[in-house]
Amino acid sequence: MKEGLPAVEPPECLPPNECVVAFFRMALILVTNDDGVHAPGLAALADAMEPLGEVWVVAPEREQSACGHALTLHRPLRPHRWSERRFAVNGTPSDCVNLCVLGFLPERPVLVAAGINHGSNLGDDVTYSGTVSAAMEGTLLGVPSIAVSLVDGGDVATAGRVARLVAMRVLVEGLPPKTLLNVNVPGEAPRGIRFTRLGHRIYGGKVVEQADPRGRPHYWLGGGPPEWEALDGTDMGAVHDGFVAVTPLHLDLTNHRALALMGDWGSALDGQLRRDSSRPASPPARKRARKG
Ligand code: MN
Repeated sequence: MKEGLPAVEPPECLPPNECVVAFFRMALILVTNDDGVHAPGLAALADAMEPLGEVWVVAPEREQSACGHALTLHRPLRPHRWSERRFAVNGTPSDCVNLCVLGFLPERPVLVAAGINHGSNLGDDVTYSGTVSAAMEGTLLGVPSIAVSLVDGGDVATAGRVARLVAMRVLVEGLPPKTLLNVNVPGEAPRGIRFTRLGHRIYGGKVVEQADPRGRPHYWLGGGPPEWEALDGTDMGAVHDGFVAVTPLHLDLTNHRALALMGDWGSALDGQLRRDSSRPASPPARKRARKG
């Protein structure tokens, strides 16, 4: 039995899918997003998770796309109930997850599912994504988490089916520590599912400068179509080829190879720091002589 799962085996009398359904019926599943409570993707994800447990939807009251992993620490969060187990929060996706996992829900959820984001979250873009950050927050709090995004113009019901398949697998198998799954569904009917690594964005676009009616300049970020390095095995490559991309993301951001390589930086900088601090302090600035 993997970490994070109840120490009970599912009954063997049912077919596998129904087994999972029966086993997790009472477990809480938190569904959130960064597109806000009114986004069609949120409803589709909640519907898709419904057979797997007791779904609670707690999501930002307004769109929070590209808010990253922001937490609200300087004002109160006020969940507004709009129907049974459905709440809008005046905060970010990470706020919603933090709030729910640490006490707002009647019990700890067994899964955090974020999405279905309107638009893909591929490669380097995961660092900006509120959807992926919600899954990061769940992961940091020890709850298995998935982020699901759909390429513009894709079918949310299809993405929901993909999300359910992945979620069922996660509920049965668990996830490695500090690891979440970032799922991207292509715009057309998927040709299959591929496990991938993150691709890399090419920052070719420029900041768009415009003038307002009074002639003052202002700027738009994110102008121009995104471009990607065409690398094998990446999430971008898979989605481009019409496959669902599932990328396991690890939240230990340490570059362990760099850490090993930079061993001598450590001793060199350490020696420099010691030499600097053993030098006599520079004499205090002389006070200006008073006149008269
Ligand atoms: Mn979004």
